Amino acid sequence: MTPEDLGLTARDCRYLRLLRDSESGLSPTEIAREFRVRLPTAISALKRLEGMGLVEYRRGEGVTLTPEGLSVSEELLWRHRVIESFLCEELGIDSETACEAATRLEMLLPRDSLVRLCERMGHPRVCPHGRPIPHPEVVP
Ligand SMILES: [Zn+2]
Ligand SMILES: [Zn+2]
Repeated sequence: MTPEDLGLTARDCRYLRLLRDSESGLSPTEIAREFRVRLPTAISALKRLEGMGLVEYRRGEGVTLTPEGLSVSEELLWRHRVIESFLCEELGIDSETACEAATRLEMLLPRDSLVRLCERMGHPRVCPHGRPIPHPEVVP
């Protein structure tokens, strides 16, 4: 399943990237705090992702990604961070602005264009925030 097939919104993508970045499960309260939203707002967003089979919630473990959620999140991290890298390194845009722009663009740009962009940039290893970039687009 691709992010397009799933019809992910920008909000879905933000939640999935946060969960992918965290070492362990996060509680809905921690997630709400991170996004500065009320708890019921975070819970409804998480329920939507749970309904898509992308996340699961277990008492004590918090919210974690399912295997499907993990692979979709890898794809999103790649898209987001490649766009960020391009905006920062090639256009000199600051990392905060680049992150906001990447959040809007990650689902809009055709995948083929991102594959070419990543190749052109030599498959950058880290984003402007120093976080690792996976390369799920490279078939081994
Ligand atoms: Zn790449
Ligand atoms: Zn980044």
